[in-house]
Amino acid sequence: MLNKDKVHPVADSYCPSCHSDDVTCIGKIPASGSFGGRVLEHAIAGAYLFRCESCQLYFRYPKLPTQKLEELYQLAVNESWSTTFTERVDWVIASQWIGGSHEFGDVLDIGCNDGVFLTGLGDEYSRYGIELNADSAKRAEERGVQIIGQHFEDVMKQTRHGFDVITAFDVIEHVEDPLYFMQLIADKLNENGEIVISTGNTASKTWTFMGSKYWYCHYPEHITFINPEWVNGAAQKLGLRVVDMALFSHSRSSMLFKVSEVLKNLMYMCFPSLTGWLRIKGFGAVNVTNHRELVDQPPGWVSAKDHIIIRLQKMTN
Ligand SMILES: [Zn+2]
Repeated sequence: MLNKDKVHPVADSYCPSCHSDDVTCIGKIPASGSFGGRVLEHAIAGAYLFRCESCQLYFRYPKLPTQKLEELYQLAVNESWSTTFTERVDWVIASQWIGGSHEFGDVLDIGCNDGVFLTGLGDEYSRYGIELNADSAKRAEERGVQIIGQHFEDVMKQTRHGFDVITAFDVIEHVEDPLYFMQLIADKLNENGEIVISTGNTASKTWTFMGSKYWYCHYPEHITFINPEWVNGAAQKLGLRVVDMALFSHSRSSMLFKVSEVLKNLMYMCFPSLTGWLRIKGFGAVNVTNHRELVDQPPGWVSAKDHIIIRLQKMTN
């Protein structure tokens, strides 16, 4: 459902990836009270969600300045990204895909956090990681992961190492130009090498219904968003073959929790004033006492099947 909010005049907005100015404003993204899992002292103002009609990328505009984003990443809590292997549906799918096509080889995980995914793959693989956070990188190394750098772009430009599989879970939504990100990855693949990427999917039913008020795009660290159509176009441009795509929910939830999230989001969309009033009266998880601007922060919908995992293979010349 397209948001009919009156959109501010953004005459200069263009796609951060293909630079087309044929872009459509989907609607206003509400303010957010957290960043990288950390509750902030000051809320971050909202923005607008746009779709590029040329490459089908969705993007946040305006995004926070790069320096501000870097400061916030530094403050983000490590522990909030820590998890076990089987909790992550995308890791389980990825390990089955990788095991089915590569019995051994060199695997690189971009944004490897504390190395739990790589460790879970098994000792038959040589495991490499790129991780920005020093504490997480140290924990990954203690698990046997070879950390080859902190900053994705620098590492990919400098390393001469080729990889059989390169993975990036929940990373692509943080980069300004996802096509360039994929190109740098594709350049480092060995023959028949594969890329596995997971992220939110703008074409999911729940996102289509909620538009710019969807929970996934209100986090200010999420700046670009993809979908199957974008993936197919990107694969063609980069000489990659889409081998597999699977839709999944980021969280394993009980039926009761799923129903409660559906009801909260329906109420938020259909009766925004009532939702705001209830929050002001102290009901609900959003604390609006000190931050009245969070009165229309979207409820979470982590039980929705709104994520996608994609497997691409480098085509041999
Ligand atoms: Zn574009």
